[in-house]
Amino acid sequence: MTMTGKFMGAVLCASLLFTPAAFAQDGGPLARPIYERDQWLPPSVPTSDDVLRVPTPATYNAPKGSFVLVGGRLFDGTGKAARPATVVVIGKTITAVLEPGDRNWPAEAVVHDVTGKTVMPGLIDLHTHLTFMAGSDAASVYSSANLSASESTMRAVKRMSVYLESGITSVRDVASHGDVPFVLKRLQASGEVPGPRIFTAGQLITQTGGHAAIHTFGPGWPEVANGNPNGMARIASGPDGWREAVRIQFAKGADLIKLASEYSQDEITAAVDEAHSLGLPVTVDAETQYIDMAIKAGVDSIEHPLPRSDAAVALMAKRGIASVPTMIAYRVIQRGSGGYFGSTSRRFELNETTIEAMAAKMRRAGVKMGIGLDVVALAGTGFLPGSYIDELESFTRIGFTKSEALVAATKTGAEIMRMGDRLGTIEPGKLADIIVVDGNPDQDFAALRRVKTAFVNGRLMLQDGRIYKEPHVEVPLPERK
Ligand SMILES: [Zn+2]
Repeated sequence: MTMTGKFMGAVLCASLLFTPAAFAQDGGPLARPIYERDQWLPPSVPTSDDVLRVPTPATYNAPKGSFVLVGGRLFDGTGKAARPATVVVIGKTITAVLEPGDRNWPAEAVVHDVTGKTVMPGLIDLHTHLTFMAGSDAASVYSSANLSASESTMRAVKRMSVYLESGITSVRDVASHGDVPFVLKRLQASGEVPGPRIFTAGQLITQTGGHAAIHTFGPGWPEVANGNPNGMARIASGPDGWREAVRIQFAKGADLIKLASEYSQDEITAAVDEAHSLGLPVTVDAETQYIDMAIKAGVDSIEHPLPRSDAAVALMAKRGIASVPTMIAYRVIQRGSGGYFGSTSRRFELNETTIEAMAAKMRRAGVKMGIGLDVVALAGTGFLPGSYIDELESFTRIGFTKSEALVAATKTGAEIMRMGDRLGTIEPGKLADIIVVDGNPDQDFAALRRVKTAFVNGRLMLQDGRIYKEPHVEVPLPERK
């Protein structure tokens, strides 16, 4: 798209009109701030596949060729009822959704017969830690702090396959070790490593002694400034320290920033301001008064079903702050150990009833809610796909219909990642993250145990329920001159 004079004019007007977020009487922003980058690159400009909206060529990481999915019922993720339809993909892009019988697709397209199956957007898991040591891996939390990059990588690669097998085509990694998630994000995008699309926060940022800080300290902790650079958390002190910690994740290529309690108001306000100036959304793992501080600072989403006031819930709804309740994680914790022990930021009682009640309260208030699991911290990907199905069922218990829960798992998940214009539904112009399911998942979530095919960015990554790897293509040796 070229920049026409009219378009330039619109940009200039938007720029003149831009003022830093207006503030409510309680000192918090009235609405989400306008991101600096958004002024210059409206979402309608199809130049980028990433949250940062860094312009990329239209062919960036696109596979060659085209394919069509014929004969299936389409659940497109918009909320519309499933219907018979044909989906056409060229390169990485969904180019058309056709009526049954319409054969208007490229002659060379590979035709997949999906008769009797449901075609739908790939599922999104908004809360994972690709490298986290869990279960029998975690001999002690200190070994997590000292995990080598190579071990982290292999752990994550194995999990990426399980995500695909479970129909999950995007994950939001909200803290992993060192540079590992950034490397895997690149290798997945180029098709070299099969797995879901990765959006990563890099290391989470917390205070000395804060939630997850223990995972970053080796022997001699906590007197290690900033923690271990190869760890999954970064320790920061004071507003400037929190700004610097945000800048470091940004420099590594973070898609979002993850903050965890505890912190002071000055610290989280500085961190959120810095992230938003850099065009990055912020999510927070917090509870009680730390949620109040996060709302005041203007965060974009809040993880978990942890305690918060009714006023906080109302403010989340009013300001468009999303929730990723991760009910399944707390259910597993409750059933496994009877409560949450050993974290300095979890000093309250939780049980299966209170977590669902909190999520239901957010639903009733109109808070935007997406699906995230966080069970990777407890059992790796071992519980998949049951853990995802369980979270969908929790969503129906707190007031979602089955269809609405699947929209939360796809369209809303993409919106929470600020990728709603590129992912989450099957519509012309969207990136081709598509799964084919044996059965009707919009009527019976158990069908999600039978994900047969998955495409990520138009690339076949799962075929007949197994990871698909493109065959090796030999490069000829150079000829003798
Ligand atoms: Zn987590």
